[in-house]
Amino acid sequence: VGLAFSLAACSGGRGATDAGASATPGSNKGALVGVLMPNKTSTRWIKDGDAVKSGLEKLGYKVQLDYANDDIPTQVKQVSNDITKGAKVLIIASIDGTALSDQLDTAGKKGVKVIAYDRLINGNKNVDYYTTFDNYKVGVDQATSLLTGLGLVDADGKKTDEKGPFNVELFAGSADDNNATFFFNGAMDTLKPYIDDKTIDIKSGQTAFQQVATQQWDANRAKQRMQNIIAKSYSSGTKVQGVLSPYDGISIGIISALTGAGYGGSGTKLPVITGQDAEIPSVKSIIAGQQYSTIYKDTRQLADESVKMADDLLNGKKPEVNDTKSYNNKVKVVPSYLFQPVVVTKDNYKKVLVDSGYYSDGDLK
Ligand code: BGC
Repeated sequence: VGLAFSLAACSGGRGATDAGASATPGSNKGALVGVLMPNKTSTRWIKDGDAVKSGLEKLGYKVQLDYANDDIPTQVKQVSNDITKGAKVLIIASIDGTALSDQLDTAGKKGVKVIAYDRLINGNKNVDYYTTFDNYKVGVDQATSLLTGLGLVDADGKKTDEKGPFNVELFAGSADDNNATFFFNGAMDTLKPYIDDKTIDIKSGQTAFQQVATQQWDANRAKQRMQNIIAKSYSSGTKVQGVLSPYDGISIGIISALTGAGYGGSGTKLPVITGQDAEIPSVKSIIAGQQYSTIYKDTRQLADESVKMADDLLNGKKPEVNDTKSYNNKVKVVPSYLFQPVVVTKDNYKKVLVDSGYYSDGDLK
């Protein structure tokens, strides 16, 4: 099995067939592509999976689409199975960015091409391409919207005269997901000057990534941590005024802890809370004035790009990339195609999410 051409020898942009490639274009027609998604608890991955599958099927490929219920051994097995079944390309949104090394070694030996989808796979040379959003920028955007919500920055991103201080707490994503660090670094680089000059006060004192990470991006873990922080650091009547949250599911857990402690009721406002993914429950929460913002990542773009990359690889062409320096997986810099995130608040959700056809009005009712 394996691809009958050498990708390493490919040169030129998209559409440039490599002269040295031995594959007859089209010889991989009907090939099997394995598509691996982490879970179905987050609706974004369902949208991603469906879009990648239908895009590949439209081009005549066979698709094995699997969800791993956030269980690492399950995903490991799914990758093995795909290779055994003769998949020629794997499109993988990994759970743990380091757990698939043995499988990728096998993939490499058999000439199976690997596209890391949304999340980088670390520590292995057989990661051929990566497509994702600009993850550092996601973190910058989350922090900037937190500052905007607090009134520290205006709509143009300029500092206002507001001096605070504001009580803020920080949450990050799952430490085994490479993206989580990028989001957090982008956010912290943005917040640091405000923390340093005490405009922002992190009452819990928890500012290191390891202290604020949320294993498996789990809403309940986030809820518990928020409850503990409220009990420990806000018992004297001081209020939380802002929360950096990396993902909508986590924001929902945080909001639940806060409303449980009386926030959002008469007298105590909910803090400014960020998010990511524009998931329907969180967009509804934004419309209802609870969550402040989310980050919209058009998963249709990402899906289309991974389909194009797979199709190019299967036709002996070199996929197009727009970044060849940001994503070092500890073994090599993985050529990447990055998309831009968009901040969504109550003010622009209609334009960004509904007018673009990502959601219908009815989805958000
Ligand atoms: C994705 C985010 C998502 C998070 C939790 C990250 O890897 O980039 O879009 O919010 O995982 O599912």
